[in-house]
This record gives sequence, C-alpha cells and structure tokens, in this order.
Amino acid sequence: MTENTTPAEKPAKVVKTQHPCKCGVPTAAGNACSGVTFATFAPGHDQKAVGYLTRQVVKEGKLTTEQAVEQLRKVGASDVLVGKLTAAIARETKASKAKEAAKEQAAAARVEKAAAREAAKANKPEVKPKDEAKTEFARAQAAKVKEDLAAKAQTTSQSAEAKANA
Ligand SMILES: [Zn+2]
Repeated sequence: MTENTTPAEKPAKVVKTQHPCKCGVPTAAGNACSGVTFATFAPGHDQKAVGYLTRQVVKEGKLTTEQAVEQLRKVGASDVLVGKLTAAIARETKASKAKEAAKEQAAAARVEKAAAREAAKANKPEVKPKDEAKTEFARAQAAKVKEDLAAKAQTTSQSAEAKANA
C-alpha cells in the first residue's frame, strides 16, 4: 500500500484568529456587539441574531423577511441558521396576527356590550309599573286600616257615651 496523498491535496492550514462577532445585534446600551469569536458569531450570538432580526421584521417592521435573510447570509450564517430565522419569522408573524385578532375581538365585544347597555337604558321606562302598583296598593291598605281604626274609635266612644248616659 502506497501513500497516494500528495502534500498539494492536503487542505491549506488555516490560522485561526479571533475576530469581531458578526451578529449585528446592538447591546442594550445601543452599542455594537463587542463579542469576539473564532467563528462567525460569539457563543450564543447566532440565536441572538435570529431573535433580533425576527423582531426587526415582525415587531418593528424595519426589515422584510428577505432583507433579514440577506443580512444573515451576508455575514456567513449557515443555511441551518437562516432556516431558523425564517421559521422564527413565520412563527412570530402568526402569533402576532393571533394577538391582533384577539385584540380586535375584545374591542368588538366591548362595543357590543356598550351598545346593549345603551339599548337597555333606552328601553327602561321612567317608572316601573310594578313598583307603582305596589305603592298604590300599600297606600290603599294604609288608608283602609286608618279608616277602620277611626270607625272602631268612634264605636268605642259612642258605647262609652251610651254607658255614661245609662
Ligand atoms: Zn454578537
């Protein structure tokens, strides 16, 4: 068996040096990422870039999906990462639409409720007939009791008078 691999076929030796991370995600303070890496992204910054670009597309509306993908490809992201980005954008867009629909539904329900309240108010009579009848009945009862008492008192005084005269 002979060694058939010539030195020319060996891959060129790559001298690895650290370079700035290419995630392009600004820090909380708004500064450029200061991470360094031997690869494309500092550890975890690939996911950070996916999250950041997804927000730029879905929440901020500053980039189209194509622009976000292009931005990721430009810095040398893998197809896998680009796939993660497009999946995340699709997922977040769906979630955001569902949230929007729920919000609209809640608003519509509020309007409906307010309209129902207004309608109920419009249909409500100024005085409740039932209550009025009740009051009238009570008043009549009270008057009757008063009359009865007066009649009884008169009878009592008349009989007393009769007794005195007897
Ligand atoms: Zn970074």
